[in-house]
Amino acid sequence: MADVITSVSNPAKQFLSHKVSHFTESVIREMTRQAMLYGAVNLAQGFPDFAAPAEIKAAARAAIESDVNQYAITWGAKSLRHAIARQMGVWQGIEVDPEKNVTVCCGSTEAMISTLLAVCNAGDEVVIFEPFYENYGPDSVLSGAKSKFVKLRPPVSEGGEWTFDEKELRAAFDKNTKAVIVNTPNNPTGKVFTRAELELIRDLCVEFDVLAITDEIYEHILYDGTTHISMASLEGMRERTVTINGMSKTYSVTGWRVGWAVAPEKITNAIRKVHDFLTVGAPAPLQEAGAVALSLPAEYYARLAEGYRVRRDHLIPALERAGFTCFLPRGAYYVMTDISAFGFEDDVAFTKYLVKEIGVAAVPGSSFYRDARDGARQVRFAFCKKRETLNAAAEKLGRLSRG
Ligand code: GLN
Repeated sequence: MADVITSVSNPAKQFLSHKVSHFTESVIREMTRQAMLYGAVNLAQGFPDFAAPAEIKAAARAAIESDVNQYAITWGAKSLRHAIARQMGVWQGIEVDPEKNVTVCCGSTEAMISTLLAVCNAGDEVVIFEPFYENYGPDSVLSGAKSKFVKLRPPVSEGGEWTFDEKELRAAFDKNTKAVIVNTPNNPTGKVFTRAELELIRDLCVEFDVLAITDEIYEHILYDGTTHISMASLEGMRERTVTINGMSKTYSVTGWRVGWAVAPEKITNAIRKVHDFLTVGAPAPLQEAGAVALSLPAEYYARLAEGYRVRRDHLIPALERAGFTCFLPRGAYYVMTDISAFGFEDDVAFTKYLVKEIGVAAVPGSSFYRDARDGARQVRFAFCKKRETLNAAAEKLGRLSRG
């Protein structure tokens, strides 16, 4: 018996899936843990450190109080699905059937992976713009797909835009391409894709019979007069787009885990199946609060964007004074920076020093690229924080010296 207890399993087996060896732990989440360890100001992970709207919190309390405590319908509470469908009509002119096109998930993170699992076969290729939100890499691996990357190039002049090369994008599409992931407004660059750019992607999707999976979680966080255009609103794209969104960023409730995927009926049915067996459903009372959130007046969204515009314009000068070159974001709540002035070996060495010695956590640029060397001179800061938090960070960053 003792032999059995002390015996070691066959080392060749190790009980692990090959899939997990193809990606690392999330660097974004790791930086939050490091911020806690060193007591640093956390400008790494993108979550607000201020209160969510009182109406939404009250709605969540009321739902719990009235015993909305059991499973909602697996693909989402009716009230929330109807609110999502209504608002997609109001904001983007997209007609959505709440009974046939909507799946509510545990955050847009689950909506994305459920979608990829629902549509990808082994050998399928997924086109991803790079730098990319780090989840898309593991999402593709877990769904058996192969990712193909297309570069977003940083602005060449101050206040310029991130751009991609049309020929490079076209070259990424072929007969094995199943989907393209488009994240606009974009994390980490802050790029807001223009209509012309989206039309270009649309034309390739139609030509190569490819699905667009669009992550629009920062839909309402826009600056400098930019507008958000949903891919599904473009002619010819309704039937080949999955639109992913959620409550996290728009209503400052990243821990509630309520997101959704809006897709044509057949694709929705597949997403719903995957979602059901993955998580059964998103938190029922918080879905009820979601329906209330989606009924807030238009001023709410204008105030949200303006609040972030003020924070952006507060943090960027502080970063510039400290020696960073900032790539001005037009949307979302991150700023990508260039760290060349500090003379560090790479972004990871720099962020380690920053969190431990300076007391500010940021995300190393390499975590947004397949090849770490491409992000070795970049670091991302999140500015979805209270003014005091940004001030504390600015004060600490002032201690950095240029190399
Ligand atoms: N989207 C956020 C970021 O990029 C955080 C997402 C997460 O950690 N789940 O920082």
